[in-house]
Amino acid sequence: MVDWVAEPVTATFVDTHAHLDDPAFDADRDVVIDRAVQAGVGLVVNIGYRPRRWTTTRALASASPRVSAVLGLHPQHADEFTPSTCDELEQCIVQAEACAVGEIGLDYFRPGPAPAVQRHAFEQQLLLAERLSLPVVIHQRAAEADCLNILQGAQPSLRFVLHSFEGSERLATWGLSHGHYFGVGGLMTRVGSNHLRGILAELPLDRLILETDAPYLVPAQVKDRRNVPANIPVIARHLAELRGADLETIGSVTTMNAVAALGLRIPPLPQQTDRPDRVVLP
Ligand SMILES: [Zn+2]
Repeated sequence: MVDWVAEPVTATFVDTHAHLDDPAFDADRDVVIDRAVQAGVGLVVNIGYRPRRWTTTRALASASPRVSAVLGLHPQHADEFTPSTCDELEQCIVQAEACAVGEIGLDYFRPGPAPAVQRHAFEQQLLLAERLSLPVVIHQRAAEADCLNILQGAQPSLRFVLHSFEGSERLATWGLSHGHYFGVGGLMTRVGSNHLRGILAELPLDRLILETDAPYLVPAQVKDRRNVPANIPVIARHLAELRGADLETIGSVTTMNAVAALGLRIPPLPQQTDRPDRVVLP
């Protein structure tokens, strides 16, 4: 297992995309958040992607100052979209003080709701984001042409985060020229991700933000198959190596970008000496 606590970092990181309300964290959610803080992750953005997860994400964000909420209806659940779900989503967003609408978009890769059903839910939620003046976290898989078509038709002032960006040149060019952000996570650490790494080496650093998608998308060489926000410095190290930058720079720049993209407020990290003991012996 990668021993991230063995290399202390002073930069503050943000995990801009995690699912800590997933049952995978039921046994040790508090410990997982504490470990993130020890690893220098000052804030975790939790994505509630369907109605029952809106409730759990809200609860998590109100219980921990280290968690912010993003709420939306994932394309895989687009068939749950109705005018009343949309009203419920709006209420939850307001109550949870969610910083964005998401993750929303199109996913033609996995079997799921029909494309037309997905497009309708996506477009309606973009309108909601416009009404609420909130940024949008985009999930796109095997649906680039349709996705881009819809994004181009949205209000130009809307700001997008292209979550788990896969390295498409067309999306990169479009996103760059319109001031949007690219989510960098476990995908770029994989042996086969040469194309993605090539694109990420070229994108301006001020467009990149870090994400784990925990409990999914574990970075390469991390043995625990459950991804956690404490793995953010592992991803940052891969990016630092790729860009020939130091870890502190990657941490501070991506954190500034996350603040700009999602309007986050990050509570200060405890001083290194105030952090809980790293090794607890009986
Ligand atoms: Zn996700």
